[in-house]
Formats: sequence, structure tokens, C-alpha cells
Amino acid sequence: MNAQQKLDFLINNPRLDSQLKEIAIKVRDSERISFDECVYLYEHAELSYLGVLANHIREARHGDVTYFNRNFHIEPTNVCVYDCKFCSYSRMIKQREEGWEMDVDGMLDIVKRYDNEPVTEVHITGGVVPKQNLAFYAEFFKKCKAHRPDLHIKALTPVEYYYIFKKAKLSHYDGMKYLKEAGLDSMPGGGAEIFHPEIREKIAHDKCTAEQWLDIHEQAHKLGMHTNATMLYGHIEQYWHRVDHMERLRQLQDRTQGFQTFIPLKFRNKDNQMEHLPEVSVIEDLRNYAIARIYMDNFAHIKAYWAMISRDTAQMSLSFGVDDIDGTLDDTTKIYSMAGAEEQTPAMSTQELVELIRHVGRHPVERDTVYNVVTDFKDVNFDKEPKKNYYALPVVN
Ligand code: SF4
Repeated sequence: MNAQQKLDFLINNPRLDSQLKEIAIKVRDSERISFDECVYLYEHAELSYLGVLANHIREARHGDVTYFNRNFHIEPTNVCVYDCKFCSYSRMIKQREEGWEMDVDGMLDIVKRYDNEPVTEVHITGGVVPKQNLAFYAEFFKKCKAHRPDLHIKALTPVEYYYIFKKAKLSHYDGMKYLKEAGLDSMPGGGAEIFHPEIREKIAHDKCTAEQWLDIHEQAHKLGMHTNATMLYGHIEQYWHRVDHMERLRQLQDRTQGFQTFIPLKFRNKDNQMEHLPEVSVIEDLRNYAIARIYMDNFAHIKAYWAMISRDTAQMSLSFGVDDIDGTLDDTTKIYSMAGAEEQTPAMSTQELVELIRHVGRHPVERDTVYNVVTDFKDVNFDKEPKKNYYALPVVN
């Protein structure tokens, strides 16, 4: 049975709960589900039901195509003025000798390591420190573009931008415009956590508010930039807080169409102030991806970070609404490993990523940051490739 037939079969099951049947019919008819219906899914829907609905949407939009990119990270610092309770990564300013703080040349040296590699994106994120200010990032973006104009700079989040713009006495719009002119191309989705103040004040009380986070994305969208959005789930929030979070994003997306990808992030409980909390199960991870795919009807893509949830769960997620599993990473990020992710040195060669996708019957496509196809790997055969080397292939598009 294909995805459409499975959905029809489900809808015709006389034993299906009447509310779940109504939701399934809405999905079949490409209608938006409501806030209350989404809460109902979280509270009552089984994984198998959610998989049928989410996979139907995924395959209607993308078929078997599964995206990834070739990227590397720069984490300019892990020292941070903020105190997020779930954060395993940062060191407070008073413990800064335990952390690292790069200068512009140190960041450029990392970019130069990839001079002969076919990477398309540098992803920059980290902590917040006063000296990494507007001038610091403007200088880095300009030098990075001068060195390698084709490298897409996806950098920082509203957490950093709110701090930097406030210090520089710039509006969100003017600050984003200034950095765009310096070379910034797009913004990743971090720092969103859970928007509702009831939770945000408990887990991330001192960084930007939901309204500030959303406004900085809105200004970026006005400038024609694409951005992503995340949600940190599986800690002290209730289901309706997740729906509230997704609803705020859905409303902004209705206005701007500037988001590309929604990325649910699992709370990991190693070495942070919330380590007494248990982590949610893999079943809950998959339910959450599926519900995100069903609810976020105006987001083109749902992404799972393989480095955060493990390669096996990433493979399974491709049947629960996910169509993107992020990039090769090349062991350039510490964010996931320090939070207790299974991947302690996250790096996959292109061949490994392609094979991971193929092993679950999907069609691997390398994309750039804004989802232009770089290489379609459907019929590409690999010769033996040394692990962790990039495979040079012709650019298709
Ligand atoms: S999550 Fe980000 S803002 Fe919060 S403490 Fe960690 S590095 Fe700082």
C-alpha cells in the first residue's frame, strides 16, 4: 500500500476514534488542524496512527526525497552571559577559563581548513559574550565572504542578536540589515526553546523573550532572508505548551513565509541544571516529529538532527514526517555531545549519510542551505571511499 492507500484504510476503519477520524480526513483533504485538535493528538493518538498521517504529508510534499547538506560548524565561544537551565554547553562568565573564546582570525582559520572541500555552508552558533559584538561579527562575515564568497553563512540566533543589537543601540531591523550587508545569509532556528512564559521563565529566564525571538525572525524575513525554527521538548512543558509554541510559529509563517524548516530538539539531561529530569522515549520523539509535520502545514520541511538523536532514530524519523537530516558536520560541533547525545564525535562522510538514507528506502539529495539541489544521489554509485573524506561529485544544479 502506498501512503494514500494507508490513509484511506485508516479513515475507513470503523473502530477509529471519531475525533481521530475527523483529523485524518482533514489531513487527507489538506486542511489545517486546530490548536485543540493538536493537543488531542498529543494526548490520544498512537504512534502508528500518527505515522500514517505524517508520512502521507511528507510523501505528498517530497516523495521519498531526503535532504542533507555538506556543512561545518564554528562555535565562537561556549562562555555565556545567560543561564539556561537545560544548557550543558555553556560556562558562565565567572568560569570562563574552562571555556573557549575565539577571535576573528581563529574563526577564519577554521573556514580556511575547508578551502578544498565541497562544503556549501558554515553554521555558526555558541554562547553570548560582550566582546563578540556587532563589529566582531560584521568583521568576520566580511572577511569570510572575501575569502570564500560562495560559502553560505548561516549564523547566530535571536539570543545573540537581541544582545548585540541592544548594546549597539540598533533596532532589530537595522541590526539585521547591517549584518546582512556584511555577508550574513540566513539564520538557524536556535534559542526558541519553549515560547510560553510559564515555561520560558523557568528554563531560560534571562535571555530574549518569545516576542523578541519572533520579531528578529520577522525582520530577517522582511529583508528577504530565510530562517529556521526549533522547539526544545521533553522537559517540564506540557503538551499544550508545545502546541502554543508551534502555533506562534505558524502564525508568523502565515504572515512572512520566511521559515524553511521546523526542527524539534530533544531535551538531553547530561551535565545541566535539569539533569534530574528523565529524557522522553524514542516513541515520544517519533510522535513529536509526526505531530509537528501534521500541525506545521505552512513549513516546507521538518528536520531531525542525526547527531542529536542517533543515526537509528534519524532513520526511523524519515517515516514520521521528517524529510531532512541535517549535514555532514565533520566533528565541528560540541553542542550535542556535551548534552549527552549518542554521537560524541559527530561526523559522517557524504557516502555514510547517503547510505544511511538509502538503507530505509529513501532517496538522498544534497541541498544547499536554501534547498537548491546540489547533487541528486539517487543513482550515484560510490567507489570505495575513505571514511570521513568528502566525495567529489559533479554539481547538478
Ligand atoms: S542555551 Fe545558549 S543562551 Fe542559554 S546558556 Fe546555553 S549558550 Fe547561553
